[in-house]
Parts: sequence; C-alpha cells; structure tokens
Amino acid sequence: MYKLRRGDEKNQAELTEWLARFRQAMTLLPDGVVIMDDVLFLEWCNPSAEHHLGLSLAQDKGMRVTNLVRSPEFMDYIILGRYETPLTLSFRDRKLIAHIIPFENRRQILVTHDVTESERIDMMRRDFIANASHELRTPLTVINGFLEIAAMQPDLDTQTRTAHLKLMTEQGERMQRLVDDMLTLTRLESVDHPLRPERINMRALLEQILQEANALSAGRHQISLDFQGTDIRGSADEVRSALTNLVTNAIRYTPENGAIQIRWITSGQGPKFIVQDNGIGIKAEHISRLTERFYRVDKSRSRETQGTGLGLAIVKHVLLRHNANLLIESTPGVGSKFCVQFPATAAAVE
Ligand code: ADP
Repeated sequence: MYKLRRGDEKNQAELTEWLARFRQAMTLLPDGVVIMDDVLFLEWCNPSAEHHLGLSLAQDKGMRVTNLVRSPEFMDYIILGRYETPLTLSFRDRKLIAHIIPFENRRQILVTHDVTESERIDMMRRDFIANASHELRTPLTVINGFLEIAAMQPDLDTQTRTAHLKLMTEQGERMQRLVDDMLTLTRLESVDHPLRPERINMRALLEQILQEANALSAGRHQISLDFQGTDIRGSADEVRSALTNLVTNAIRYTPENGAIQIRWITSGQGPKFIVQDNGIGIKAEHISRLTERFYRVDKSRSRETQGTGLGLAIVKHVLLRHNANLLIESTPGVGSKFCVQFPATAAAVE
C-alpha cells in the first residue's frame, strides 16, 4: 500500500510538473491559443491570444467567445463551420489568421497567428513594384513614341531628328537613374551586404561633395563649407551617397541666387552633418513622409530637376546602417535644414 501511494504521489508530482511546463510553453508561444467548450465558452487562453483578440482570461473565463471577439467575419466563420480552412481576420488594427480545430469531441481550440507585419511588408513590396513600373512607363512611352515617329517618317529633317534624339537620351538617362537608385536601395536593404566600416577621410569627402555641388549649381548658388569635425568610421561609399543626396536636393530645391551652407561639426552627441538652404522649403505635413520611396511634395519639380523620388529613402537606409539619425526642419518659402547626427561612437579614434 505504502509503495503504491508513493508511486501515486510521484506520478502526481510528475504530472503537475509536466502541466506547469506545458503552461509555460503555451505562455511563451507567439501564436494565440484559446480553448473553448463545444458551445464556444472560454475555458483558457494564452497571453498571445489575449493580446491578439483583446481577451482577459481573468475576466472573460466562462463567457462566449463570439461575444468577446465581435467581428462579422469571425461570426460567419463560426456559423458556416468550415474549419478545415483558416480565416483571415482583420481585428483591432491587426491582421490575423484564425483557425478553429475541434478536439476531444466537446472542445475546440482557436489558434491565431499575427500576420500584420508580413502583410505590411507585402503591401510595401506591391506598392514599390507598382510605383517603379509607373515611373519607368513614362520615359518608355516617350522613347517608344519617338521611335514610332522615326519609323513612320524616315525623311525627317536633321534638326527635328536631333531634337527627338536629345529627348530620347534624356528619358533613357532618367530610366538609368531610376534603375541605379532602385539597385542601391535593394543592396542597402539586403542582409547579405553587411557594413564593412573603414576610416572615412571626411575633409576629402566633403571637399569632393562641394566640388560636385558647384558643378551642379553652375554658379547659380552660393555654396559654402564649414569643416570642424573629425573623421568617422563607416562605409565611405554609402556616406558619400547619402550626403551627396542631401546637398544635391538643397541645390535642386533652391532657386537661383540662393545660398547653401554645408557644415561638419562635432556636437556633444557626436559628429554632425548639416546642410541648410534658403530654398522653397517644405510644408510641415510632408516632413514625416519624405523618406518614403517615391514620395515627392511636387512631382513635376522633382522630375524637372532629374529626381527619382528615391534619394531620401536611400539616405534613410544608409543612416540606419550607421546608427545615425536624420532631422529635418523646414519652413515653406524660407528654406530647409537637413541634419545627420552620427553617434559619438562613430568618431574615428586617432
Ligand atoms: P526627389 O528625387 O524627388 O528629390 P528625394 O527622396 O530626394 O526625391 O526627396 C523627396 C522629396 O522631398 C522631394 O521630391 C522634395 O519634394 C522634398 N525635398 C527634399 N529635399 C528638399 C529641400 N532641400 N528643399 C525642399 N524640398 C525638398
């Protein structure tokens, strides 16, 4: 008897321990698990299910799940009872895949999987492809149009033909810029492309950017460089590309006779790049969206000045890879200031 009782106690302890482990595993599961009885009364759920479906086990235990998860899609799913296929459910700003699995005859498990983030990424990809195709279609249409004219009117005078060729070349260059920027973005996002930090000679880099800025401006702006900062560690190509984009924008969005100041300083927070212009400026409502791909305040102005709408998206990605932040201050009609704050740790040690 004593031996039997000892055996029972041991079994009981093992069972309790196993149950505790099982509960802990369920608690840590990223998917939601809800156990309901045959008429959908809540018996138990894990924290992920509480989070996904807005349930509270302490308060809602014993209540009907359909009264707690108030969604017509969910109701239809229950009524139809086609549980072999999962349901895609939009619920409280989330996108969930919900699946009911009957078990033990009288019980059912509802499993929820949060796909909000992957849906968002999918949507971004779809938007990107749609936008990129749209951007490429316009120059292609122009080129095809001129090619058609050339085929139908082979005797066009030299002057008209030269003009057509010039326009076609411009559109070809526009497509080239777009494809180059798209490839740059893809490379920056790729996980197989880790950052290989090197010491960047900032004085040489900024002087080169200043030279290119003067060439682009062709004497239409006053451009100054104030250099006081230190060298940093990072990818020279990427940092050059980001800072060039910001300076190029300052020139493109500043009318003739405007002034552009470029500064490289070391603040208490770390090395800092500032480019300030007294150009057209940006309305406050656009500022938070400027780094989105293909986001432009004024499409025609961006195109006129050879913009692809991807410049600031590239800047954002480069800065992300360097743990740096972009700060934008702007007043329409007064001008804009773009600051890049590198972390103090980016400064290259002598
Ligand atoms: P784009 O190729 O169109 O210039 P960007 O990504 O570089 O694309 O910039 C996005 C938008 O931000 C631009 O279309 C423009 O409307 C605005 N912008 C960027 N820099 C400036 C600036 N210095 N002054 C005014 N507007 C700017």
